[in-house]
Amino acid sequence: FSINSGELELHEELGRGNYGTVKKVLHKPTNVLMAMKEIRLELDQARLNQIIMELEILHKASEKSEYIVEFHGAFFSESCVYYCMEYMDAGSLDKLVNFTLDDVVPVPGVDEEEMTWTGVPEEVLARTASSMVKGLKFLKDELEVIHRDVKPTNVLINTRGQVKLCDFGVSGQLEKSLAKTNIGCQSYMAPERIRSEHEGQSQPAYTVSSDVWSVGLSIIEIAIGRYPYPPEVYTNALAQLTAIVLDDPPRLPDDRYSEVACDWVAKCLIKSPSERAGYADLLAHDFIQADEGREVDMAGWVAKAMRFRDAKQAFGKASKVMSAPTAV
Ligand code: ATP
Ligand code: MG
Repeated sequence: FSINSGELELHEELGRGNYGTVKKVLHKPTNVLMAMKEIRLELDQARLNQIIMELEILHKASEKSEYIVEFHGAFFSESCVYYCMEYMDAGSLDKLVNFTLDDVVPVPGVDEEEMTWTGVPEEVLARTASSMVKGLKFLKDELEVIHRDVKPTNVLINTRGQVKLCDFGVSGQLEKSLAKTNIGCQSYMAPERIRSEHEGQSQPAYTVSSDVWSVGLSIIEIAIGRYPYPPEVYTNALAQLTAIVLDDPPRLPDDRYSEVACDWVAKCLIKSPSERAGYADLLAHDFIQADEGREVDMAGWVAKAMRFRDAKQAFGKASKVMSAPTAV
């Protein structure tokens, strides 16, 4: 727990969120690659100490679950918190799967079949769902922590095929210090949360069932490669939030996934929180039970998805530029 900035070698940026930047770093004394999140915060020493204490708890806990990213340490420097965690070398699921089915990247010398996006097979989806629920159940049972920010950018995967959660609200003090700027589009908030914020009631305690909603929505997004309330239809944040509260919940496409899979997701997305499935129900469901002990080549799938993602980044733009003149 003694990481300081001098021990770190900065590598490339991994991504950016509402609160700051995540960079890949090498911890030189141990030769371990880490992901370092920089969070800008103006805080006094007492607050900082409290945050460190809370993060220490997280440090001990994260080693006990294979579904939670490990926490390596944190330090403060020039009104920023630097938070070092396990580096997940395939990144977050949103960036790994945000493609449309049969999308093709024309990579010279690679056959088309290899460079066609075939989506997320049900077995991979089941393992992902199972890992998410097990991670959340661990947080709840062992730490009495509710995640509160379940979404595909906070579901990380590595080339060994392990799926782990990050960015859970373990540090109450850190949470309180962060300005909530994330009221824009792409809400993963459950309908009851949106309602209560809108009506300005004293907030009912955040419960696990709100996280279950976010799991359901995230699983659909991972399956179809885009946020389930598309921005073309719901053109602003209000329209989107209204749809979450008033419309029927989105469903997993039943032409690509089994009835069992669709049923599991539907049970996550029951709009009434008291009727929504709990973690025990979800784990006992056939969708997850079928995954127990099943051989799934997660590593193989991750490798294939990364090849597609990286090819898309390198060659995808070129193909768009070539077709641009016809659009004028
Ligand atoms: P928000 O700010 O709303 O939480 P976010 O989750 O995308 O959104 P960050 O948590 O700052 O924002 O993360 C930015 C990006 O960095 C993520 O989308 C993810 O792709 C990448 N990332 C975060 N943590 C890791 C990690 N441990 N290993 C690898 N990549 C990571
Ligand atoms: Mg995040």
